[in-house]
Order: sequence, then structure tokens, then C-alpha cells
Amino acid sequence: MANTVIIRWQRILAAATQVAERHVDLCLSSMPTGHRGALLRQGQRIIIYIDLDHAKSEADVIAVMAHELAHLVVGTAEHDDRWRQQMDSIQEYLRKALRGVSDEKKETQAENGCTGSSDPAH
Ligand SMILES: [Zn+2]
Repeated sequence: MANTVIIRWQRILAAATQVAERHVDLCLSSMPTGHRGALLRQGQRIIIYIDLDHAKSEADVIAVMAHELAHLVVGTAEHDDRWRQQMDSIQEYLRKALRGVSDEKKETQAENGCTGSSDPAH
């Protein structure tokens, strides 16, 4: 259990959709491409490719998502100052979106703990 990695894909995707202001599709693959991630456009469709050989944690996934979403928002493939500023801002936004969820989870676990400890058998 200690090595279990939980990645909240639905929550990340919901936050990414808010950043992109449109639906975003994810393409997860371990197929070697030499890229951690990529932003693909098929007409109006936005697809973010994530290389699972590199994205081993939720923080890795957020980093890739922020990188690619910044390209979308800034509208360039360059890694210039404008892109970097946008990427930092998006990364913070995604982290905050997930922080809210983990706080809710902690409250639920605390409630469960109280219920368990009130059992006279334990
Ligand atoms: Zn890039």
C-alpha cells in the first residue's frame, strides 16, 4: 500500500478543462516518443498526450498538464517568458484545485475515525 500512487485523473481533467475553457481529451501512453507530453490539435479538439514512463506521480502529471496547457493558452510552441509565467500560474491553479479535494477527504476520514472510536467494542 505504501507504494500505491493515486492520480486523481477526473479532478485534474476538470481543472484542465477550466484552464483551457473547453473540453480536453487525455491520451496516456507508454509508447516511446521522446516527449514527456504533447499538445495535439485535431480541428477544435484538444488532446494532451502524457507519457506514463515519465509521469509517475500526480505532481508529474500536473507538471506535464501545466506545460502543455500553457502552450495552448499562450498560443505558441516557444518556451519564452510569457509561456513560463503562464505555466507557473496554471501549475499553481491545478495544485490548488487538487488541494481542495484532499482537504475534503481528510475531513471525511476524521469523521470515520470518530465513528469508529465511539464503538464500545474497540
Ligand atoms: Zn513545450
